[in-house]
Amino acid sequence: MTLTNGTSASHTAGTPKCFPSVTPGDTFWQNEKDELHDHRSTEQLPEHSDIVIVGAGYAGVSTAYHLVKDHGHAKKSITILEARGACSGATGRNGGHCRPDFYGHIPTYMDRAGARAGAEIAEFEIATLRAMKKLIQEENIDCDFTLARSIDVWCNADAAKKAKAVYDRMLAEKFEYMEDVIFYEGEKAEGICGVKGAKACASFTAGTMWPYKFIMHLVRLVLAAGVNLQTHTPVTAVKPDPQGGYTVTTSRGTTHATKVVYANNAYVSGVLPQYKKNIIPCKGICCRITVPEGAKAPLLNNSYINRTEDNTLSYLIPRSDGSIVVGGAAAVFRSSESQWYDNVDDSILIESAKDYYTDYMQKTYNGWEESGAKVDQIWSGVMGYSYDSNPHIGVVPGEQDQFILAGFNGHGMPVIWLSSKGLAKIVMDDLKFEETGLPRLFETTQFRIDRALSGKVEDGDILGSGKFAATRP
Ligand SMILES: Cc1cc2nc3c(=O)[nH]c(=O)nc-3n(C[C@H](O)[C@H](O)[C@H](O)COP(=O)(O)OP(=O)(O)OC[C@H]3O[C@@H](n4cnc5c(N)ncnc54)[C@H](O)[C@@H]3O)c2cc1C
Repeated sequence: MTLTNGTSASHTAGTPKCFPSVTPGDTFWQNEKDELHDHRSTEQLPEHSDIVIVGAGYAGVSTAYHLVKDHGHAKKSITILEARGACSGATGRNGGHCRPDFYGHIPTYMDRAGARAGAEIAEFEIATLRAMKKLIQEENIDCDFTLARSIDVWCNADAAKKAKAVYDRMLAEKFEYMEDVIFYEGEKAEGICGVKGAKACASFTAGTMWPYKFIMHLVRLVLAAGVNLQTHTPVTAVKPDPQGGYTVTTSRGTTHATKVVYANNAYVSGVLPQYKKNIIPCKGICCRITVPEGAKAPLLNNSYINRTEDNTLSYLIPRSDGSIVVGGAAAVFRSSESQWYDNVDDSILIESAKDYYTDYMQKTYNGWEESGAKVDQIWSGVMGYSYDSNPHIGVVPGEQDQFILAGFNGHGMPVIWLSSKGLAKIVMDDLKFEETGLPRLFETTQFRIDRALSGKVEDGDILGSGKFAATRP
């Protein structure tokens, strides 16, 4: 059954803290809704499912995919409960940049936990991008996927110097994946990247895509494999059932589950309050820029992370229709904390940054001055900022048969696919976290939960309040 009005079926009396807002604002990616956007597989909730997944974003849908494809759907009944439409959270509102972290945050993880712990995150993300390319080809998914060179640009001389030092450090570690990275500095940089005033730039392999189309294709596949999807069905509580398993309470009644997977990212603490300090809902902005018909603008065939002279960071992807999707600008709105921090309202923009991308292409790229490029659509979205900037994956500490896959910051695209594959193994095969091949720093642990609850900033580290994640491209 498909609801036709696209609005949330129930929880209409305002938005409780840490639940998705009832009516998200429009975004370019969802201007044309997929026919399954408001889908309900059955009129009523199933009485019982072997596995209930909370959230139908990238994490929830890809977990369902791995459960049915890697483990055989006939064995288990699976229901996805989604508060709004399918893929209406961060995944359906993001920048479409699937860019592994080669060296951005990796040195911090190396400092915290050793070189291998850091490098395995970079390697995992690179492997995730490759696995996604393979999947998209094998399943013939129409989602505008490209493999591009992602260009990192520094327009501030000091930041460029620091970036070069990081690059040299990573080379000295002899990580094999660094063979894909090339760094330029000095006069050549601007000519190579096309960004005005660039002092340095570097490039490596990354992907660009239409995430909503990608996920909705996966939704189609999991439904065909027997998964029950219930949109507009926010989960409000999960309690142990004295007879075994869990009673899952939703706005449309209760359902019973043997196992529960929390894939509701920014909103996880709405149902798992122990994560309140670990995963914090934080807003970001993103927009689509178009060039008027008949006007000319140079082709960009790389994706970008641009840092201006004052170190404001933007992520940017070119699209085959000639438009640009660009977002970020956290430095512009960071001080207006109430507009973005611990805020779930993606029905409105971030007031202090809403004009940042006016004339962005003209100001930033050589050759775009007369392009007439203008913001065609701008939107906000809600990310789950993790206290230590790593996602939480695995068995919820102290619980049985409850699992979490959340806290992906502004960086879920090159992380979630293989993360959900690993989680599916824990859920179905009772594998221990360390047997999954997931990066060790991704494991959800009582230590991480307590560290965030205590609010400790350790070893002069950047841990604290999750705001570090705000710097993530
Ligand atoms: C503006 C913006 C730009 C971004 N750009 C990029 C980018 O370019 N590259 C990149 O890698 N990452 C980017 N990100 C981050 C990326 O989108 C996320 O990391 C990723 O989409 C997280 O996927 P998810 O499935 O965990 O969360 P979501 O997509 O948010 O899915 C969670 C789902 O759970 C549902 N839900 C929540 N609570 C409940 C409940 N109680 N009951 C039932 N359902 C519930 C929500 O409605 C939602 O559909 C960006 C994010 C934003 C907001």
